[in-house]
Amino acid sequence: MAEKRQKAVDEMFCRNCGDRIKKAAEICPDCGVKNEKPTAPPPGRSSRSPAEGTGSGGASSPHQTPPRQYESSVSENWWYAVAGGTGLWVVVFVIAGAAPDALGALGGFLTLLAWFGLPLAAYFDMQYVCANSDWRPSTALWVVLLAVWLVNIVVGAAYLYQRHDKLGTP
Ligand SMILES: [Zn+2]
Repeated sequence: MAEKRQKAVDEMFCRNCGDRIKKAAEICPDCGVKNEKPTAPPPGRSSRSPAEGTGSGGASSPHQTPPRQYESSVSENWWYAVAGGTGLWVVVFVIAGAAPDALGALGGFLTLLAWFGLPLAAYFDMQYVCANSDWRPSTALWVVLLAVWLVNIVVGAAYLYQRHDKLGTP
């Protein structure tokens, strides 16, 4: 009869034997086959974001560190030289201001060292910066400014500040 296929609101048909069973019943009492509950999947099952699956290695660190994709043969320690060069300029200026007579051979050597060393260090450091961060400092501008008498102390400090902002070091 047709009424055999009728089911009440709280009933459904067993997917194995076709018997009318209660929706709440997980296992058909007639054939014993488990019937899927027509409910939403439990939370947490679909929590995996699609972007997660696209990773190549599947190496997941607990603190979500972005993978280093950059390569550079330049040392990461050039900023020490930038800081040192900037500091050297401060020393030179202090000596030149306090006791110009003391700025003899050694002072001349230090000045020369700072004059060439600071822009050179910054040049190499910017190669590292470009290879290891999204910061793209205009190398020529910084190098020129770092070679300018008196301005270079401010510029050196500004450079290190920018570097700290973009790379975290110093
Ligand atoms: Zn059944």
